[in-house]
Amino acid sequence: MAYDQYPPISPYSTGMAGRCPRCGEGKMFKGFITIADKCDHCGLDYRFADAGDGPAIFVMLIAGFIIVGAALWLEVSYEPPMWVYFVIFLPLTLIVCLGMLRPLKGVLVALQYANKAEQGRLEG
Ligand SMILES: [Zn+2]
Repeated sequence: MAYDQYPPISPYSTGMAGRCPRCGEGKMFKGFITIADKCDHCGLDYRFADAGDGPAIFVMLIAGFIIVGAALWLEVSYEPPMWVYFVIFLPLTLIVCLGMLRPLKGVLVALQYANKAEQGRLEG
């Protein structure tokens, strides 16, 4: 099927769910953050998908804001011993970072598809 035979769907909801940005049905990932070769529903070739470092920088900025903000608040409010930080923030950091990585990569790839973003090319 051609590109325009599918109705436009939100790149945010499909990306967050890890679904195909064209049909919204097939799976985008074959591993935790490994992009599949093509959509198993509509056959969209995912070779265009290259989010690069995009998801990582968003995860670092957002997780850093959440984790460091919470740690600073905890320190200022309660001044707990150091082990409390390790018990709370090591698992929280892993959960927040790993939890955001896949949805953010899905959104960036879906936005790349929706906006037809690709490498610059010389004409002719
Ligand atoms: Zn598809």
